[in-house]
Parts: sequence; structure tokens; C-alpha cells
Amino acid sequence: MSSLLNVASSPSPLSSPSRSVEDPVSLLPGAGPATSARLAARGLRTVADLLGLLPRGYDDLRVVTPLGALASIEEGRVVVVRGTVGRIRVFPGRFLDVVVEGEGAEIHARWFRVPGGMAKQFVRGAAVALAGPLRVATSGERELVHPANVTALLATPAAGAAGAVLAAPAGLGIRARYPQVEGVSGRVLEKIISAAVDRYADRAVECLPPGTRARLDLPPLGVALRAIHQPSPSSPPGELDALLAARSPAHRRLALEDLLIIQLGFSVRRQRARIQPARPCDADVGLTMERVRGALRGSGPFVLTEAQERAIAEIARDMAQPRPMQRLLVGDVGSGKTAVAFAAASLAAASGGQTLLMAPTEILAEQHVRTLSALARPLGMRVALLTAGTPRPIRESTLALGRQGQVHILVGTQSLLDKRIALPDVRLAIIDEQHRFGVTQRARLRRTDEGREDELPHLLVMTATPIPRTLALTLYGDLDASVLDQLPPGRAPTVTGLCAGEEGRALAEQQLRATVEQGHQAFVVCPVRAVSTRAGAVTAVDRYAALERSLAPARVGLVHGEQGSGQKDAVLRGFAAGELDVLVATTVVELGIDVPNATLMVVEEADRFGLAQLHQLRGRVGRGGFPGQCLLWVAGDREIGEEARERLRLLVSTNDGFRVAEADLTMRGHGDLFGLRQAGVPRLRFSDLGGYLSLLEEARHEAERIVAADPTLSLAEHQPLRSAMETRWAEGQVFGEEAG
Ligand code: ADP
Ligand code: MG
Repeated sequence: MSSLLNVASSPSPLSSPSRSVEDPVSLLPGAGPATSARLAARGLRTVADLLGLLPRGYDDLRVVTPLGALASIEEGRVVVVRGTVGRIRVFPGRFLDVVVEGEGAEIHARWFRVPGGMAKQFVRGAAVALAGPLRVATSGERELVHPANVTALLATPAAGAAGAVLAAPAGLGIRARYPQVEGVSGRVLEKIISAAVDRYADRAVECLPPGTRARLDLPPLGVALRAIHQPSPSSPPGELDALLAARSPAHRRLALEDLLIIQLGFSVRRQRARIQPARPCDADVGLTMERVRGALRGSGPFVLTEAQERAIAEIARDMAQPRPMQRLLVGDVGSGKTAVAFAAASLAAASGGQTLLMAPTEILAEQHVRTLSALARPLGMRVALLTAGTPRPIRESTLALGRQGQVHILVGTQSLLDKRIALPDVRLAIIDEQHRFGVTQRARLRRTDEGREDELPHLLVMTATPIPRTLALTLYGDLDASVLDQLPPGRAPTVTGLCAGEEGRALAEQQLRATVEQGHQAFVVCPVRAVSTRAGAVTAVDRYAALERSLAPARVGLVHGEQGSGQKDAVLRGFAAGELDVLVATTVVELGIDVPNATLMVVEEADRFGLAQLHQLRGRVGRGGFPGQCLLWVAGDREIGEEARERLRLLVSTNDGFRVAEADLTMRGHGDLFGLRQAGVPRLRFSDLGGYLSLLEEARHEAERIVAADPTLSLAEHQPLRSAMETRWAEGQVFGEEAG
């Protein structure tokens, strides 16, 4: 559990020194030794930790739920019911069971291990109102567990009509619903947190500078905490809706703090990198680019797109500086990132330096070597490959050449991270498909150049995940971004279609046959390899067997994650070389290969894949100047959910990866999809990042403003913010690891 609040190490003279949010939980009423221990096991040690445990949602107890409607209410919700007391049963020492009936329905209320005398407050036939959490008993019946007797609160006849909003009777307001803590009942937890808020909310250390709060019109921390934990029952409906949807000013206040801390961490890292020296690439850009363009033309009818030209210009400008470039190249699949990388590497080589290019798989590394070698030859540059699979003698001779400065681009997988590689003058480090590498590897690749610890190579990170700009700021906020928002000309956009059931299958097979007859190739992607507990699951092994039969004499291959890497690579290579017509695969397999002759992609049970994943998949076809086609197959209309249907429809309607990613973000609302967690940035307390995209921009501006005014965050007003940032980034375990 990340600590919400940070405390200045010495208490301010104005506050009573006897109470601080760093006090242990055990000082709160209700938190005895056993409960405190259970809270601690969940990371809740201090009052600050408790204040930071945000409600998962709220129960509006101002509304009475009709007894007949309880069946449709989810378990765990706290509800208010009214009715007449029915049968009362007392099981001494065990439990009390009271039936509440009315409107032709009834519910059991149960209290366990309560004094027998408790039954006295209920009289058969009398009106009663209870408020408590709903539970589904082992019998399948719904019951109220330990509800509070709120009959007195609902005494006025006008109040409490079923479904009506009550005039805020005392004690029956909007109740926060907290995440479960093992061994601590919801009610006890509520009581403890309530005490924490009452006694400590105003002592929570405000880490947002006053200027930031004023500019963004955010409530002070104490006010925000109260509003979130103890919503006022008299809030106007609009305000309550905002609260229920986690969009209230109080939520904004806490979310902004999280985002600001992330952005500040990035700003500080950018600053640090800026003061680090790098060897500038001082080659004549105009001249080098002329030669690069010549080489590209030589490889085919190839004119750089405007987007590529723009990105290269940005990169050239960065690389000419004696400060390390820190640039992210975002481009949809097929947007031509390799050509940009080649231009950058040529600039490094023309300046007398070398380039390391790290790819996520051997196949991709080999593919880069093939492409780049052809381009590099006319420029007199040498490209070499180094992977875990490189035989030792070749590895030795490659490294020897490299040390003499005779290898200009060294392409490899993670084996490039090996310290012993030590090339003399690594001027540029390029990472392809960044989302597959963690931040640590990013940092290590820059450090493979042993002799020059003081200087950093320029860094170019390439990603095919078309992340929206706003999200790029979160994930890669320490990098500047160049965007390839344009595909090379003459590329017919891939047409995506939806098909279902047996009829759809027949259509897909017909397309497969037609594709093979035209001399093109096709992918068939299945969600599972061989076995699944799910009835009707489409497995790659089954589809392979079926297609091999029905498509004969077409050559069909199968590749999946359980094959050894040698076998896997052999199949993929065979497909790339045109020895196979149809490749049946699971997505565990890295399909990031460039097979220009592939024009059809069939995705089986497409509803089982995510939006971004499907978009990546269809990017594999239609790369060679032939129009591509993607067929998304589903078992049937009834088998898939509304959300899946919406996803598939979106893919049919647009090819724009940025739109797809943006939609993915709003639909799933989850930053995790994009590897936020792996990226090593501090956690956000609200996972629903989709709702906070505009706030993210504001946080970035604030961070820049603050760092510009006070680069080391040493002003007194920035102390709480600084310590908050240090704590949270340390928990993200990244801050010290990648200072560059
Ligand atoms: P990605 O951005 O997915 O890495 P690649 O660099 O593999 O894309 O490029 C995809 C294909 O487009 C390659 O076959 C490449 O030769 C081609 N290509 C890239 N840029 C251009 C261009 N400006 N004009 C024509 N073809 C291009
Ligand atoms: Mg690529």
C-alpha cells in the first residue's frame, strides 16, 4: 500500500505535537492489537495509510430498497429495507434471525454471537427498518448480516417511502464502501477510518504547493479527504453523482497529486539527463541524408514520408547536441520506423560513432540485419548481428571487428546488454518495440559502453503501440516524442470484416483459398493452443489439422509457444521465405515479422482478444503494396458480450491506430493495458486513467512550471512535495535505477 500522505519530519509548531498522521493505527478507537496486526498485514500501519485507503464506491442509504428488488442487488452492497417484523428465532450463543416481510417478499436478518436480549427490540408485526450489507447465504437465499436497526430514524411517515430520497436523517447518509481487509469486518474498518478522518484529516500534510492548488482550483487535502470518506448527506444530486463516479473535486485533487508526482519524477530525470554530457553527432546532416535517401531509393520506390522526414529532423537536431537525446518514436505498425532508425544510425556513423539496436526477438533482430545491411552497403557501413544464438567464434570475430570500429550498427537481442561488449564509441542506442522491455534494460543498454561512464549515448526508443499522446506523457514522460502519423504512400488500407458461425467459417476458408491461389500468404490466429476447459474453444492444433485437410494442396504450417525456440523459428522463417502458404499460430508467438507477401489475416474467436492486440495483428498484412484483408471470426452473435461487439465494430470502422488506442483506453479505462505497471512508474490510486486524461496534461504543465522555478525542489514550499515524490518513486523502484 503506498502511503498517501507524507509528513514533514518535524511537526509544524502550530499543530499539536502529540498527534501526527504517522501515528500508528493502534491509537485509533476500534483498532485493538489483533485488528492492528491484520491492518498492518495489508500495509496499513499508520493513520496516513488508513486515510489513503480510498473507498471503492458508495452506498446511498438515503434510498430505501423495496424488498422485492433485493434479488437483483449485488452481494456486499449496504441496503436499507423496511417492512414488518415476521418470525423471530433465537439460537442462544449462536445467532438471532429476524424475518422482515412486506410487498409479497421477505428477507432474513442475522446477527451472530449477540446477546440473547437483543431479540427484545423486535416485535412481531411491528414496522421495522434495517440497514446492512447484503449477503448470499449458502442456501442461495439473500440475507442481511448484522444490520443496524434504523427504525427510529425512519419514524416520520413521510420519510422512507420505498425508492424515495429521504430528507437526510441523521446517520443515514452516503456510506463509503472500502476494499476488504482480511480478518477485519467492514463495519469495524469503517469505524476506524471514520475516527481517523475525524481526528486527523486536518493534520494530513498538504503536499500540493498553494500555487498549484489555486491555479487548478483544487480543495485542500483535509477537505478532500473528508469529502471522500464522509460524503455529506445533504450534497446536491450533481455533487453526489460526481462522487459516485469518482469525478468529484476531491477525487480530482487526489488524482492530480498522483499524476503530478509521476510527472515531477520525469521532469527531474529529464533535467538530470540534460546536464549529463554526450558525444554530439556533428556530421553534415544534409549530406548524410542525401546518401540515406539514395540508399532507400536503391531498395525500391522509396521516398520518405513527411512524417518520417519530420522525425528524422527532430532526431538529427537532438543528436547534434552535447546532451544525450531522449526520444520516443511512436508509429503505427508499418509506418516505417526502420527507415528512421537507419537515418539516425547513418548520422552516428558519419560522425564516427556506432549504433546499438536492440530488438525483442531473434527473428526481429535478423530481419533488421537483412533490411539494414542492404541499406547500409552503399554508404560503406557494416551491420552485424549478435544474439544468444550466435555461435561463439562468430561472436568473437564480430566483437573484435566492433572494437576496431568496423561495425557501424550492431543489432541484437538482450544479449547486447552484456557488459563485455564494450564497443569503443557507441553514439546511439536504439530500442525497438519498447513495450517489451522494462526501464531497467533501457538504462542498461546505454551503459554497455564501459570506458565512457561519464558520457551517455543518444537514445531512441521505438514503439509500435500507438499510444495516445496524453498517455505517452505518463508512460514515457522522461522522453520527447516524435510521431509517425502517416503510412507510406501506395499502401492500400487493410479492410477489416466481421463474420460469424459456420457461414463465417466457410467464408474465411474461401478467402484463404483465394489468397493462396493468387500466390499470397495468410495468417490464422487462434486464442488457444491445444487444450481448453472452455467448451467450443478454438485451438490452433485443431484448426491446423482441419485447414491442412480442407486447403490441400496449400502448404499449412503451425507455430505456438510450446514449441522449442528452434522449431518455432524454423516455421516462422519458412513462412517468411514463402515455403508455407498459411500459418496457423497462437498469439504467444511473436508475429512481428515483415512478410510483404502476406495479405490475409483470419482471427478466430476475435472477441477473446483486446482491441490493441487485434490492431497489432491486422498490421501484419498488406505491407507489401498488396491490399490487406482481416477477417474477425466469432462463434455467434449470442456468444459475445456487448463490449466485445463494440470493440470489433470499432476495428471494422477505423484503421487509425491512435483512435483504436484512445478507444481502448476509454473502454477499459485501465492504464495497465499499456504496461503502466511494468514501466516502473508510481502507482495511481485511481486505475480509471481514462477519466483523467485532461488532468494528466495539467499535471505535466504544473510539473514543468515547478521544476523550472525550482529545479532541485529545495524551496520550503516544495519540501512536502519533494518528500512525497521520493517516497512514491522509490516504491516504483525505478528512481535510482535509471538516473539517465
Ligand atoms: P514499422 O514502423 O512497423 O517498423 P517498417 O519499418 O517495418 O515499419 O516498414 C514497413 C514497410 O514499409 C517496410 O516494408 C518498409 O520498407 C516500407 N516503407 C517504410 N517507409 C516507406 C516509405 N517512405 N515509402 C515506401 N515504403 C516504405
Ligand atoms: Mg518495426
